[in-house]
Amino acid sequence: MAAPLLVLRNLTVDFHNGERLSRAVDIAEFEIGAGEAVGVVGESGSGKSVTWLAALGLLPTRASVGGSVRIDGQELVGAPAATLERLRGKRIAMIFQDPSSCLNPVHRIGWQLSEALGLHRGLESAAAQAEALRLLDQVGIADARRRLSDYPHQLSGGLNQRVMIAMALAGQPDLLVADEPTTALDATIQAQILVLLRTIRRDTGMALVLISHDLGVVAENVDRVAVMYAGRLVEEAMGADLFGAARHPYTQGLLAALPALTGPRQRLTAIPGTVPDPWSVSSGCRFAPRCPVAEPRCAQQPPPSRRIGLLHRAACHLAVEAGRSVWAMPQAAE
Ligand code: SF4
Repeated sequence: MAAPLLVLRNLTVDFHNGERLSRAVDIAEFEIGAGEAVGVVGESGSGKSVTWLAALGLLPTRASVGGSVRIDGQELVGAPAATLERLRGKRIAMIFQDPSSCLNPVHRIGWQLSEALGLHRGLESAAAQAEALRLLDQVGIADARRRLSDYPHQLSGGLNQRVMIAMALAGQPDLLVADEPTTALDATIQAQILVLLRTIRRDTGMALVLISHDLGVVAENVDRVAVMYAGRLVEEAMGADLFGAARHPYTQGLLAALPALTGPRQRLTAIPGTVPDPWSVSSGCRFAPRCPVAEPRCAQQPPPSRRIGLLHRAACHLAVEAGRSVWAMPQAAE
């Protein structure tokens, strides 16, 4: 079996606030294969984005990152700034939810693309211009030559996201981390961007991490899914296994909250409460205060991640049976 492209071991992120310390991320192990598409899901505050910002060395200095993140054996955690500069964009690139706040408003699109091409591939002048044009074509921007002279504010949100994707592709990365790339877009443009990402993956063989709170978006666009809760990885499986036979009570709760597309109208099942404040999490299972089947030991002992199938792992003290949800069946709407 080929070695994984990216290996994450014992990754921790601690935020300091005076004397207080909060552990926002605590992930024992996680791997991504070359060319693989992995979805990372969970509610807001579950640590999805912080995990990848930490991996790329993009967190502010009040955050301490521990453990290891290696891409093709090259360590990222604690790497010198020059090494990170070389790897970011070239080996791993990241795009964000709001492209207009990531693009520089005072520079033209062509200038920003050329700068990325110079930095990552050493292209200059005419060569950079030609490659910028090709990238805009690749991401489906019509009249690319004219768009090179535009400023970000002259483009729609969907076009700006395409420009961000073009900039991410400028370094020909092996892995693209897309952090809620379609959340700020309307449904039609969202579908177009997701098709674009699928096409680029097919054409380039690039691996993808798709961070989203939208299970529908993830289900259609990835091979494998990782579920995060309060900074921990609670379940990980191939998409069909996760959506068809989730074993962790939190994952089952997320799925139970989805509306059925067919059948009679039903009241949706909601997970009570909210994701805990990272400054006040307990030492045991962080989902315990919201879990309908929590036992006394859950609040004291963190559950180990156990293998429950070939590529299926869950971190829960209970061996929840496949096909049985711990959440009550939804009741018929009145
Ligand atoms: Fe629920 Fe306990 Fe499993 Fe946590 S370890 S999800 S509290 S049953």
